[in-house]
Amino acid sequence: MKALCWHGKKDIRYDTVPDPRIEQPGDAIVKVSACAICGSDLHLYDGFMPGMKSGDIMGHEFMGEVVEVGPATRNLKVGDRVVVPFTIACGGCEQCQRGNYSVCERTNRNKDLAEKAFGHSTAGLFGYTHLTGGYAGGQAEYVRVPHADTTHIKVPQGLTDEQVLFLGDILPTGWQAAVQCNIQPTDTVAIWGAGPVGQMAVRSAQLLGARQVVVIDRVSERLAMAAATGAITIDFEQESVVERLRELTSGKGPEKCIDAVGLESHAARSLDAMYDRAKQAVMLESDRPHVLREMIYVCRPAGTLSIPGVYGGLIDKLPFGASMNKGLTWRMGQTHVQRWSDELLGRIAEGQIDPSFVITHSEALEDGPDMYEIFRDKEDGCIKVVLKP
Ligand code: NAD
Ligand code: ZN
Ligand code: ZN
Repeated sequence: MKALCWHGKKDIRYDTVPDPRIEQPGDAIVKVSACAICGSDLHLYDGFMPGMKSGDIMGHEFMGEVVEVGPATRNLKVGDRVVVPFTIACGGCEQCQRGNYSVCERTNRNKDLAEKAFGHSTAGLFGYTHLTGGYAGGQAEYVRVPHADTTHIKVPQGLTDEQVLFLGDILPTGWQAAVQCNIQPTDTVAIWGAGPVGQMAVRSAQLLGARQVVVIDRVSERLAMAAATGAITIDFEQESVVERLRELTSGKGPEKCIDAVGLESHAARSLDAMYDRAKQAVMLESDRPHVLREMIYVCRPAGTLSIPGVYGGLIDKLPFGASMNKGLTWRMGQTHVQRWSDELLGRIAEGQIDPSFVITHSEALEDGPDMYEIFRDKEDGCIKVVLKP
């Protein structure tokens, strides 16, 4: 079959690879009808996440039709139409039982590696380094879904692929980021990053009743997309984020701050950003935490920082004293995708949210290598890419 494979920094190829097979009795094979490129894939593309190997199949946001099931699979049958959550969950361990699917205790088959890096293993993830199991991803014609009984979302035929595809990642990610803020009707929610995750967080914060939602980025079409829903926008290259947020909150600062940027943050003319770039270049720091520093500084005391943005390793010069003394609450993590599936599918079916608004490019899978570049460089107004095998 054909698949998009990682071969090193900025080197994604449309390769011919062996078809996936049922390996465990609980597996299923899904024929992919649509998949997407996620901002998290860019961290691999840019070479910032450790643990990739040449030839690894990319992709963790995908859907399709079940074409084969293992003998122990109970909840799926051939012909079912499914979105596949990026978090592989067993459904039976203590964490899955609590709804903490992204830290499932059983699905990472490279537990030892993860324990060394993080102290504990987290869930297996599709197409996302050998630290999270080294599972083949879904930017491919076919994909093996391990623990298939609890690693799928069945979707009705009445909804299009574009409406439901993002249930596997960016929609629940924006939603969880907002839910973790425990939004009150008096709250200002500030969201750094107007990429696909930021866009979903904007809609989620609005649905959850925030007083005002403010979005920060520097890419004009991304800011415009957020503004179209009534969000206030700040271009961090044109104005001071801290000053503008204070103005918008009578000098008090936003109660809730969401980091939808992650470890590759940019910054306009700031000293700390130059410091991070220099340290990252000589590998003394793995992640650039400019957004975290800004959030700590501007967040109203007793407020909440919610962090869906991905970090991989070590960060430096974090004003932890400010965070401690202001009594900030930190919420973060890879998304517990399956926790939110029923509610979000319901909201899509009722027409409360149609996540397809974020798609700017729909292309063939073989165009994937070019689309990685276009998405990364934000060329051609690109906000979200969907690929069809
Ligand atoms: P993206 O790269 O398209 O968007 C990031 C946006 O941040 C860009 O528009 C960029 O211009 C902007 N940005 C950069 N520096 C900034 C700054 N200093 N202030 C404000 N904005 C800034 O990616 P995406 O798909 O939207 O993903 C965003 C983050 O969410 C990534 O780190 C991704 O890995 C992560 N993510 C996490 C999960 C999860 O489960 N927690 C799931 C999906 C994605
Ligand atoms: Zn993702
Ligand atoms: Zn589990």
